[in-house]
Amino acid sequence: MDSTREIMLQSGSLYRKYRPQTFDELVGQEAIARTLRNAVALGRVAHAYLFCGPRGTGKTSTARLLAKAVNCLAPDPNQRPCNQCAACRAIASGAAVDIVEIDAASNRGVDDIRDLREKVKYAPVELRTKFYIIDEAHQLTRDAFNAFLKTLEEPPPHVVFVLATTEPDKLPDTVASRCQRFDFRRLPIDRVVERLRFVCAQEGLAVDDAVLALIARRATGSLRDALGLLERLVVFVGERAGTAPITLDLALDVLGGSRHERLAELVGAIADRDAGRALRAIAAAADAGEDLQQFGRDLTAFVRSLLHIRAGGADPLLPEESGKLAQRFTLAELAVVLRKLTGFDVPLPRSGVDPQLLLELTVVEAILALDQAQVTAPATSADRTAAAPRPASVPVAPASPAVSRGDGHITQASSSAGAPSREQSGAAADEDTLLEQLVLRWAAIRRELRSANSKAAALLADAEPRLVRGDEVILAAPYEFHRRRINEETELRRVIERVLSRHLGRPCRVVCVAPEEVETLRKRGVNESSRHESTDEAGAAGGRVEEEDAPDPRALSGDDLRRLEAAKAIFDAVELS
Ligand SMILES: [Zn+2]
Repeated sequence: MDSTREIMLQSGSLYRKYRPQTFDELVGQEAIARTLRNAVALGRVAHAYLFCGPRGTGKTSTARLLAKAVNCLAPDPNQRPCNQCAACRAIASGAAVDIVEIDAASNRGVDDIRDLREKVKYAPVELRTKFYIIDEAHQLTRDAFNAFLKTLEEPPPHVVFVLATTEPDKLPDTVASRCQRFDFRRLPIDRVVERLRFVCAQEGLAVDDAVLALIARRATGSLRDALGLLERLVVFVGERAGTAPITLDLALDVLGGSRHERLAELVGAIADRDAGRALRAIAAAADAGEDLQQFGRDLTAFVRSLLHIRAGGADPLLPEESGKLAQRFTLAELAVVLRKLTGFDVPLPRSGVDPQLLLELTVVEAILALDQAQVTAPATSADRTAAAPRPASVPVAPASPAVSRGDGHITQASSSAGAPSREQSGAAADEDTLLEQLVLRWAAIRRELRSANSKAAALLADAEPRLVRGDEVILAAPYEFHRRRINEETELRRVIERVLSRHLGRPCRVVCVAPEEVETLRKRGVNESSRHESTDEAGAAGGRVEEEDAPDPRALSGDDLRRLEAAKAIFDAVELS
C-alpha cells in the first residue's frame, strides 16, 4: 500500500497520472471524443482546433490525446492511439520534440508568435505531424494574434494547432473562425464521483462515497480540481489512508471551511449591499490562503450559476440553499453584479496589481452598481420611456448621415428647451439607463444580430456598449480591424444600428472606439453633447455661450463626424486644434 502511494506522490499528481490515454477515457466529453476519433479514423483532422471550456475539463489532455492519435503508428486507424508504438510512448512521456506546448500567459507577445511562425515552417523531426498546443490562448496580445493569423491563413501541411482557452469570447473572430471549435463542459457531479471512485480503486484507497461527493461538489465540474483535492486529502491522511476509510468528518477537517461557504457569505453581503461585510469575507478568504485570483473566478462562476437559477434554470453542482441566495436578487441585479465581476479577471496577468485589492474594488463596485440598478431597473426604465413625454422615443426614421445635425436633433432639442441643465441631470441619467438596457440585453442583441446578419454579429463578438451620448451609442472593441469595419462599412453598421434602435426604443447611431478611448469620450461627453444641443437651442432658449472654441462639427456629415470623433479621441486634440 505504502509503496503504491509513494509512487503516486512521486509521480507528481493524480491528475497527471490519470490523464486520459484513450478517447474512451475522456470522461464527460463523449461527443468531442467521438468526433475526434472519427476525424482520425477518416484522416480528416483539421489544421486548427479551438478547445473552449472551464479549467480542468480536459482541454489540454484532449489535445495531447489527439496528437498521439494523429501520430500513432498502429496500422488500423481505428486503434489509434495504441499507447504502445514509439510515437505514442514518446508523446506520453513528454519527450516528443514535435509536440510543442505553449502557455500563452507567459509567451503572449508578438515576438513569441514570430518565433513560432519561423519554426512552424520546418518539417517535424520524428513524428508525422507537429502539434502546437497553445494554452490560455486568449492571453495572446493583439499583435500576436495578428501575426498568428497569417500562419492560420496558410497552415503548413504538417502542422496542427490546438488553441485551448477558458475565454473563447476574447479571441478575435478572425482567428476563431479558422479553427474547428469544441466546447468542453463542466463535468456533472456523478461523473466526477465515478472517476474519483475509479482512481481510488486503482490506488487502493478507501474513501467514503460522501467524501467523493463533497470533493466533486467543491471542484465545481473540474476533474483536475477534484483529483487535486483528493490528493491533498490522501497526502494529509498519510499512513492511515490504506487501512481506515477516509470519512466525511475527516475530509471536512482536512479540506477546511468550504470555498462554497465563503463564496455564499460574500454573495450574501453583496445581496445586502453590505460593503463592510463583503470586504471582511474577502479578507477571510485571503487569510485562509485562497488564491484570490481563482477565488474571484469562482465568485464569477457562482454568480453566473445564480443567474441561471434565477432565470428558471438549475445548477446541479450547487447545493440546494443556493436557490434561496439567488432569490435575494432580481435577474437584472444578478446581471449587473456579473457584469462587474467579469471585469475582474482581465488586467491581472498584465499588471502587478494586488489581486485582493482588485477583488475588493470589483465587489464594492458591484454593490454600488446594484444601488444604481435599483433606480434604473430595465422594467421601470422601459415603462418610463413609454409613458413619459419623451419626443426622442417617438418612432422617427433613424437619423441619416445625410440629414444635417440641426434637423436630426430637433426632436431632442424640443424636449430640452428651457431646461439648460439637462446635461447634468435628466439626460445623463437617461443615457445611463439606456446604456444599462443595452448592457443587460447585449447577449440577446447579439443573438438577434446573428440571425439578421452573421457578419455584423461577428464584428460585435468582442465589442461591448460602453457609453450612450445623445443618439450615439459608443461601442468599445479591442481590435482595430473590427472597429474600422463597424465605423466604415455603412451597410453593416446600419444593421447593427437597426437592432440597437429597436432595443432602445429610439433611433441611434453607432460609433466604435478602442476600449482605452472610452474614458476620454466619457469625460468629454457633457461638453460635447451640450455643444451639439446648443445650435438647436439657440433659437428656442435664446442662445448659449459655447464652452469651448473647438471646430464646429455640425457642418460635417455623419461619417465625417464619426471619423473626427475617433480622431479626437485618439489624439485627444480638441482643445488644441
Ligand atoms: Zn500508437
